[in-house]
Amino acid sequence: MIEIENVHKSFGSLEVLKGINLNVDNGEVVTIIGGSGSGKSTLLTCINGLEPINAGRIRIDGTEVHAKTTDLNRLRQKVGIVFQQWNAFPHLTVLENVMLAPRKVLGLPKEKSEEIAVKQLTHVGLRDKLSVYPSRMSGGQQQRMAIARALAMSPEYMLFDEVTSALDPMLVGEVLDTLKMLAEEGMTMICVTHEMAFARDVSDRVAFFHQGVMAEIGVPDQIFGSPQRPETQEFLGSVR
Ligand code: ADP
Ligand code: MG
Repeated sequence: MIEIENVHKSFGSLEVLKGINLNVDNGEVVTIIGGSGSGKSTLLTCINGLEPINAGRIRIDGTEVHAKTTDLNRLRQKVGIVFQQWNAFPHLTVLENVMLAPRKVLGLPKEKSEEIAVKQLTHVGLRDKLSVYPSRMSGGQQQRMAIARALAMSPEYMLFDEVTSALDPMLVGEVLDTLKMLAEEGMTMICVTHEMAFARDVSDRVAFFHQGVMAEIGVPDQIFGSPQRPETQEFLGSVR
């Protein structure tokens, strides 16, 4: 499980996370919603050790992410992250792009890496794009490739940061469907999203972030149906 305990994070004098507490159980899907600048992305980058924290702690299956002794490469194999955009290597095919991580990071032989990449690309519906170059695919297909690439490391946890925000509205659905499939398969996930219908549909719990604080967390029906905090009500009013 992921245990986030009283996490504080500042950039210079700007405190961006002001004591975040959140436990995510195995198999659970937690979505994070909230206004721009509320600290959502920062929390994800702290969870997989891309950013240091100033206080508190984050544990993944008991391993403290920010302890000096923690092997961050190993941790990042376990905790995959997909961003709004991933710049694939343009001179490599889709298959070659996805093979790279198991080959270079896990050190697996070429055949095994290829087998894993084909499996994950098939999983996200890109079986017919193996030998295509990334630039020849739509934004939605490129995001599914990015998800396949993360899955090729066999992660136990997945973090998604607004993976549909840069897409044409027409292409959002295919990517959300991929996330939903992973959720239904039991992947433990934290998804930062602006897609409220998706959050309502797939989440076990929804967390609302406001100015570096987790102002409210609850099951989707509670957060969307009867939000308790005025900030949550105001935010949901503005996105509806
Ligand atoms: P969100 O994802 O909710 O929009 P972020 O976590 O990206 O918010 O950012 C929270 C705040 O931290 C913002 O004010 C942002 O400008 C600031 N911030 C984020 N990353 C950095 C950074 N690397 N250096 C300085 N300030 C940052
Ligand atoms: Mg963000």
